[in-house]
Amino acid sequence: MFKKILIANRGEIACRVMRTAKAMGIRTVAIHSDVDADARHVREADEAVLVGPAPSAQSYLNVEAILRAIAQTGAEGVHPGYGFLSENAAFAAAVEKAGARFIGPSPSAIAAMGDKIRSKQLAREAGVSVVPGGVESVADEEAAREAAAAIGYPVLVKASAGGGGKGMRLVRGEAEMADALRSAAHEAKASFGDERVFVEKFIEHPRHIEIQVLADSYGHVIHLGERECSIQRRHQKVIEESPSPLLDAKTRAAMGAQAVALAQAVEYRSAGTVEFIADRNKNFYFLEMNTRLQVEHPVTEKVTGLDLVEWMIRIAAGERLTLKQKDVRLDGWAIEARLYAEDPTRGFLPASGRVVRYREPTGAGVRIDSGIHEGAEVTVHYDPILAKIVTHAADRDGAVALMRHALDSCCVRGVVNNGLFLGAVMANPRFQSGDISTAFIQEEFGAAFDPAKAGKEQLAVLVAVAATLHHRLHARDAAIGGGQNAQRVASGAEWVVLANGDSHKATVAETAGGHAAVTSSDSHEVIGEWRFDDPVFRGAVNGRPVAVQVERIGLAYRLSHDGVRLDLQVLAPRAAELAALMPAKKKQDMSRFVLSPMPGLLSSLAVAVGQDVKAGEAIAVIEAMKMENVLRAERDGRVAALRAKPGDSLAADQPILEFE
Ligand code: ADP
Repeated sequence: MFKKILIANRGEIACRVMRTAKAMGIRTVAIHSDVDADARHVREADEAVLVGPAPSAQSYLNVEAILRAIAQTGAEGVHPGYGFLSENAAFAAAVEKAGARFIGPSPSAIAAMGDKIRSKQLAREAGVSVVPGGVESVADEEAAREAAAAIGYPVLVKASAGGGGKGMRLVRGEAEMADALRSAAHEAKASFGDERVFVEKFIEHPRHIEIQVLADSYGHVIHLGERECSIQRRHQKVIEESPSPLLDAKTRAAMGAQAVALAQAVEYRSAGTVEFIADRNKNFYFLEMNTRLQVEHPVTEKVTGLDLVEWMIRIAAGERLTLKQKDVRLDGWAIEARLYAEDPTRGFLPASGRVVRYREPTGAGVRIDSGIHEGAEVTVHYDPILAKIVTHAADRDGAVALMRHALDSCCVRGVVNNGLFLGAVMANPRFQSGDISTAFIQEEFGAAFDPAKAGKEQLAVLVAVAATLHHRLHARDAAIGGGQNAQRVASGAEWVVLANGDSHKATVAETAGGHAAVTSSDSHEVIGEWRFDDPVFRGAVNGRPVAVQVERIGLAYRLSHDGVRLDLQVLAPRAAELAALMPAKKKQDMSRFVLSPMPGLLSSLAVAVGQDVKAGEAIAVIEAMKMENVLRAERDGRVAALRAKPGDSLAADQPILEFE
């Protein structure tokens, strides 16, 4: 067994790999860029080596510097995590040449599966069912149209070197082909330096279901069941689960057998994932094989009870995989939610900043894989993942309930993140029913997530909690100030809670043990602990445990819970009467303006002054995070003036043009 390994990665996955290494008695070496000198993965490693400046190309992708770090520290194995160099065959070969073991598959297996076109050909030869089309790249528009006509629209234009959803375009008919080809090839070139694209059938209402495989160096391959990863935005996963609500034992066995056959065909070793796309009728087709540990591997670990990183390390050290297929048991249900520094109200655009407050959820059935700490700097240089929250219970309902509570208890301040959005997915009845597809987020939430959209129960809980918090603050102030006020407040008081433009009545009284009970029209009794500076209120509403995030925004309480965020104001009845007499502040009408939904570069404008534009028509292309984002008109109108020109750097909400 290795005495020391180097982890060629950062963030949560570096910390995750080190956790297992430590448990196995293996010393760990972290690598880091200069901005990551104080990062969590550096803090948790036994040794750390600086490999370069912030940009990944000069640090985490800097093969020379990493090889030097291996030599300098005497690391005997290298775990690449995911992303960065994890699927780089040349890196794997260089590590082995330098005398260390690459904790992953052979360079030839990585190369064979790294190219989407080649891997599809290999899969077909191994008897795996593949998506119709796409076994050759298309040279030009004519070839693409021919390929599409042969398969039948709709089709997907995909980059052969693609990953992370980049270089992929949906084409519903011939007219959209030219645009899609151009932008997919452009994006592929920018992201991967390889502009080859191919055309394949677009599977309608697709579900993304993948099989985890594990193989040793002696030809023994097993599978560990499936993960469903259909909850995606921009073709990127955010929530995964195991098992899949779609599969039955027969389909699982068939998918598993195909995944194993493919792994055997490329003489695979280590952990790997064979991705499929499935339709409503449980037909499934091979998408690609990822020759590395996946982000979402913890859900498989939860239901199988296995440690995938431990097996990767053992297999790399030459051990045999002692598990047989029949030993693999799937127990209960696990869900993973990825906490990202991104803004769901602005098209999920990555965010950055400093984490000023961080509290992880805890408790039975909850696992956190995190790469951040209070004070951590989240920069634009790397993947914006902050942490993964994983819950495990006897069944799916149980895992969802645990996740809702875990998300409400998880506190990240200082960096815009998607925590609340994840809560909204969990609270969504369609998600709960298991009727999902990769279009779920688009269909249920549209272009932008509105956190103020509250259901009846969510609103009732937030009103009751706001009144309780305010009552407690008021009681504290009154006690400090003394006088008759204190008497009045303690023995029960009426409050008016303003939320989303409506007012709600609430009565708060102190009960035994110093707790407060609230009765609003819906009669919600709130019991809980809260000190005036706690970021999270923990308690029970009508006997059900709840956690509510609390922020003070001026005089209002900004409460977040179960996918909903509201600013609530609590007033004494007399003050509420007066407030109702005040003229309401008018919001400035910006509907005539097209605003940039994100910070980025305005790469082109498709309209001119005086032009009539129809809703849905493309207006501009904004480049952000190497992605081309097409901005479309939300309504019909005539362009009155242009407020920005191609080449301009745009701030979020900066006007691009004005309609008449
Ligand atoms: P990447 O390597 O960029 O992640 P994948 O081929 O794994 O690309 O596809 C990512 C996602 O795109 C899938 O999970 C699925 O949601 C969608 N997708 C890919 N191929 C198809 C297809 N043929 N039909 C429908 N959706 C697809």
